[in-house]
Amino acid sequence: MKIYINGKLRRRQDAKISVFDHGLLYGDGVFEGIRAYNGRLFMLEEHIERLFRSARAIVLKIPQSRQALRRAVIATCKANRIVNGYVRPLVTRGVGTLGLNPYTCRQPQVIIIADKIQLYSEFLYERGLKVVTVGTLRNHNESLSPCIKSLNYLNNIMAKIEALNAGAEEAVMLNAQGNVAEASGDNIFIFKGQQLLTPPVSAGALEGITRNLVLDLARQRGYATAEANLTRYDLYTADEMFLTGTAAEIISVVNMDGRVIGSGRPGRRTRDLMASFHALAQSSGTPIE
Ligand code: PMP
Repeated sequence: MKIYINGKLRRRQDAKISVFDHGLLYGDGVFEGIRAYNGRLFMLEEHIERLFRSARAIVLKIPQSRQALRRAVIATCKANRIVNGYVRPLVTRGVGTLGLNPYTCRQPQVIIIADKIQLYSEFLYERGLKVVTVGTLRNHNESLSPCIKSLNYLNNIMAKIEALNAGAEEAVMLNAQGNVAEASGDNIFIFKGQQLLTPPVSAGALEGITRNLVLDLARQRGYATAEANLTRYDLYTADEMFLTGTAAEIISVVNMDGRVIGSGRPGRRTRDLMASFHALAQSSGTPIE
């Protein structure tokens, strides 16, 4: 395996960064997760744009142009002969002193890892997930905006621990108002009557690239869509529920807080969206060549 660090491809055992990097010391940095399907990088532009937006939001200057970064992502995939896989570009604040001050860090580090990923087993895609509401609230927008895909994922990790300890696969995180924000690493959708609903980003969700794509696909397939503040009541009484994310793709939720959601099996409309999503993922994207 070859890992990209600041312009060079290094062997896995030689891919090292300083212990004084503020990415390690403070989670000070940003990242993305990108899928490769059939030798193409899916939604590459959207991921590059979000990486630059996240960096901008934390006053981190990525020391490369978008074009150079795009090329580096492609080169890393090529070097690892990725056909189907998962790419993780990340930018850390770089080496600094032990204090918090990010201005002591002179050189941000750009790292790209290209590997495989399978978040959930085939079985779970067929059966659907069990989720639970957790006590850990999603970060308040004015504390650390959930729109920033930062290296500091402790908020999400605390939620994931609660869910796993409760015997569930994923967490439903609420915001300080008690509305549904998102899962620990995915966006949440429900079908209710004729409508496909998802919380607005302002409720404390990452603006998921899969989320936006699913909203588009749903409209193309004739479903009415809306962004709406949702409570647990809305989820408990939904006809269908599913999660979306680059790694998870689209996965049905059939049980929440020990209650059966919808029919207790992945719903017809969810399966319809899964099929459209896979068809698009298999046939579009930026070639790795
Ligand atoms: N929410 C969170 C907290 C995430 O980390 C992610 C990415 N895994 C998502 C939602 C889904 O976003 P995307 O579809 O862009 O991967």
